[in-house]
Amino acid sequence: MKKKHLAILLSKLRGFENPKPYLEQYRTPGEVASNLLWLAYSFGDIKGKVVADFGSGTGVLAIGAKLLGARKVYAVEVDPEALKIARENAENAGVELDFILANVSDFDKKVDTVIMNPPFGSQKRHADRPFLLKAFEVSDVIYSIHLSKPEVRTFIQSFVTQHGFTITNRLTVSFEIPMQFHFHRKALERIPVDIYRFEKSLADSTKR
Ligand code: SAH
Repeated sequence: MKKKHLAILLSKLRGFENPKPYLEQYRTPGEVASNLLWLAYSFGDIKGKVVADFGSGTGVLAIGAKLLGARKVYAVEVDPEALKIARENAENAGVELDFILANVSDFDKKVDTVIMNPPFGSQKRHADRPFLLKAFEVSDVIYSIHLSKPEVRTFIQSFVTQHGFTITNRLTVSFEIPMQFHFHRKALERIPVDIYRFEKSLADSTKR
């Protein structure tokens, strides 16, 4: 499968029916998802691996990971309505996911790779933190998407380092958000986001 092909396929999946602002339900655009997945794939972090998608929403990232050959993909989502859409999307894409209806903080399995597009924290401050904390706990390799703003970059850099991880890659792309909530002013908003790869620092994993 080509990167472009993956982007098109993922952008055709069903979106949120009734997006909930307090959960920051923005579907990951096909192009953004494909960039994240391609980066992960080229690092050998997808094929044959056990992967978890935190806040899987409509299932875009989870489905993409499975299409690229992940052995097992946990799709962890707190909203039953979103999970239902993801189930339908997975079925249409012909892939099997391991759905877990739960708050991300309650996820209790070790995985090879976490992929996620967590809430950006623009509705509920720091809504991305439980996602990062859980990812640090269950995996040595993490791909995540955050706003490309100086204050967010500073926060990510220090939070990641504090938890014994290193930023190995950062890729800035444009994230399209359609007008879906009452506080949106434009039909289509394009915001720059950073796709990160975090890896557990060597020094930390050899510490005893
Ligand atoms: N990648 C997904 C969208 C992510 S939006 C897609 O393309 O559809 C963030 C998702 O995280 C939403 O689906 C939201 O319901 C979910 N979410 C928010 N807080 C959560 C929590 N604490 N635990 C699990 N899921 C959560």
